[in-house]
Amino acid sequence: EPDPTLRPEARPEDADRALRPQGLDEFIGQAEARANLRIFIESARRRGEAMDHTLFHGPPGLGKTTLAQIMARELGVNFRMTSGPVLAKAGDLAAILTNLEARDVLFIDEIHRLNPAVEEVLYPAMEDFELDLVIGEGPAARTVRIELQPFTLVGATTRLGLLTTPLRDRFGIPTRLQFYTEDELNEIVSRNARKLAAPADDKGSREIARRARGTPRIAGRLLRRVVDFALVEGDGRITQDLADGALNRLGVDNLGLDGADRRYLTFIAENYAGGPVGVETISAALSESRDAIEEVIEPFLLQQGLIQRTPRGRMLAQKAWTHLGLSAPKPRAQ
Ligand code: ADP
Repeated sequence: EPDPTLRPEARPEDADRALRPQGLDEFIGQAEARANLRIFIESARRRGEAMDHTLFHGPPGLGKTTLAQIMARELGVNFRMTSGPVLAKAGDLAAILTNLEARDVLFIDEIHRLNPAVEEVLYPAMEDFELDLVIGEGPAARTVRIELQPFTLVGATTRLGLLTTPLRDRFGIPTRLQFYTEDELNEIVSRNARKLAAPADDKGSREIARRARGTPRIAGRLLRRVVDFALVEGDGRITQDLADGALNRLGVDNLGLDGADRRYLTFIAENYAGGPVGVETISAALSESRDAIEEVIEPFLLQQGLIQRTPRGRMLAQKAWTHLGLSAPKPRAQ
């Protein structure tokens, strides 16, 4: 089994921090999202108002948190961060909201996992910058309205479909993040290699970029490991040979798939002759949560054309059979 910290959803945060881009100009890729954000940030600055609430959605590790931090920095305001599962009670959110200063950015990660009671508090806060707090209990209970400073909520989710409609409708700027191209990842890798004082030649950084699952977070992780190999077993420089050897030893194959991806494909090939098979069955067989399968494993396999989603379940595409080195079963006569 490969190292679990190489998985896209793992977040050893301190390792990431040094490589995080600080401004919109340093942020590579997501050209369309970046161009729009630049306008909305500039407009909010000129008006002296809080920027509109923004929702980032897309697979883990594509830069949602990074963009939220960049927004705060470019707006010249404070950045506050929390997450859906952490906000257990309405009071937890109320405490954060009442402490915001004018135009601050509040980032809520995994916003699809908010408790409904907490979400209720968010609606008037987002719409009118007001908080309705219930004080006391039973017949003596009364509601107190508190005015908040205008603020920008930035929500992030890996599962847009799990957001309630009223919450979704309150974001003025919904933004979908895409997997990165090899060229974009190559630029990120070579830039970061320089920051880590381990220069990569173009073929070396490209080898890492090509196998990073379209994801900057993974590119960063792979780069750090390749740097380790370069220092200990090479001369500190990253070449294609060195990167290839290191990535093979880390269990990352030539398409960038890791052990979990290959177990997924192999399971459908060997036990269901390529499918269709339901996601619950896959989840039980692989001991992976359904969420992890749908949020982390499948988006990249779909994007690569390795699998298809059908109403009857998941199916392997021809490319997956080729990749696994297996031959697809002959279609049976009906
Ligand atoms: P998410 O919030 O979508 O899971 P993050 O914003 O935490 O992803 O980004 C994951 C890692 O990838 C961070 O270390 C970040 O610095 C890096 N990263 C993300 N997007 C980019 C980018 N466009 N250019 C350079 N590095 C990036």
